Amino acid sequence: MRTQVAIIGAGPAGLLLAHLLARGGVAAIVVETRSQQYVAARIRAGILEQSSVSLLTEAGLGDRLHAQGQEHRGIYLQWPGQRHHLDFMDLAGRSVWVYGQTEVQKDLVAAGTAEVIYEVSGTALHDVTTDRPYVTFTESDGKPGRIDADVIAGCDGSFGPSRHAVPSRAFERTYPYSWLGILAEVAPSTDELIYAWHPGGFALHSMRSPTVSRLYLQVPNGTDPSAWSDRQIWDELAKRLGHGQDGWKLTPGPITGKSVLPMRSYVQTPMRHGRLFLAGDAAHIVPPTGAKGLNLAIRDVALLSRALVALLRSKDPRLAGAYSDTALQRVWRCTHFSWWMTTMLHTSGDPFDAQLQLSQLRWVVSSRAGAAGLAENYAG
Ligand SMILES: Cc1cc2nc3c(=O)[nH]c(=O)nc-3n(C[C@H](O)[C@H](O)[C@H](O)COP(=O)(O)OP(=O)(O)OC[C@H]3O[C@@H](n4cnc5c(N)ncnc54)[C@H](O)[C@@H]3O)c2cc1C
Repeated sequence: MRTQVAIIGAGPAGLLLAHLLARGGVAAIVVETRSQQYVAARIRAGILEQSSVSLLTEAGLGDRLHAQGQEHRGIYLQWPGQRHHLDFMDLAGRSVWVYGQTEVQKDLVAAGTAEVIYEVSGTALHDVTTDRPYVTFTESDGKPGRIDADVIAGCDGSFGPSRHAVPSRAFERTYPYSWLGILAEVAPSTDELIYAWHPGGFALHSMRSPTVSRLYLQVPNGTDPSAWSDRQIWDELAKRLGHGQDGWKLTPGPITGKSVLPMRSYVQTPMRHGRLFLAGDAAHIVPPTGAKGLNLAIRDVALLSRALVALLRSKDPRLAGAYSDTALQRVWRCTHFSWWMTTMLHTSGDPFDAQLQLSQLRWVVSSRAGAAGLAENYAG
């Protein structure tokens, strides 16, 4: 097979890149290890920045998002005895949207613009520093496959082979805690997300729709999700989120999913090697506290699609040459913001740290500059 861009990975980065390239008149083929159903059902991100919503809308992917997504003006930030609303529209002129990654994935599949070969194995990259790179793999029926291309886009997440094909420097931070996340068939007990600092650990009340809630608890690394009963989870969430505080109530409901998510920051530089370009989680991971992972993947491919259209249609290499440096500026901004939110809200057991965190939280909610800084970064 021959195409212009061979894309590895059919997550949001890979499928959106194929979609944007098709709109720009550039052909692409995507290879993916998992099945289409598996990728579409993976529960992950749920918050889209205003700029991601604008990009998806301009790319013709906004109909369901605007019909079913929920626009939020801001978030609640709280600690025991205190709850404060930060209004991003007022502070930064931008909102955020609750719209699950699963829904973005469904919209991309429904658009039908990406040619995807699902359930491949043994993906390998070859000759990435030449003008004729290629990808080999084995198809689900055991037949060997090969895609010759002008460019390879590594959109295969943090466990894929692409990032290992880039001789690069990695920056990494592993945090000493994880998130126990649940999905529950119950209407959210809040109109907008609640980020809660608590001496027992951080808690987050998020949501996926008017009938589905998503909630998280800070837990020690290595926690086994099955060690927590549903009752224990709801009791702990009620305590950390302030059930009863000023009459607010957390309504529990049937838990349909339970998982533990380790917290990690990771940046690989550069994001390009010869004719191989990395995008999304293949190049960087952020802890989910700042809701940035999916949004960063969307920004990467917005930049990369423009660069590849210019390179492959107009033979103009300037945007492709600038891709890594340009993308990394935003990656590092989001990496800092995600680290800042994470370290401000997660408890370490150290009483000195706890006092610093509370002081910082008080400053964020009482200073317009502090609140605007959080709003600008969160809303993108
Ligand atoms: C529990 C959880 C909660 C999150 N919450 C948020 C949030 O609130 N907000 C936010 O913005 N982000 C969040 N994120 C992060 C967000 O989900 C990721 O940043 C996003 O999925 C990145 O998209 P991607 O396409 O780069 O990578 P992925 O979604 O990981 O897609 C990579 C694809 O490559 C495929 N692949 C891997 N290896 C190969 C191979 N060898 N050959 C072919 N294909 C391969 C994989 O199967 C996968 O489909 C969360 C993540 C998790 C896990």
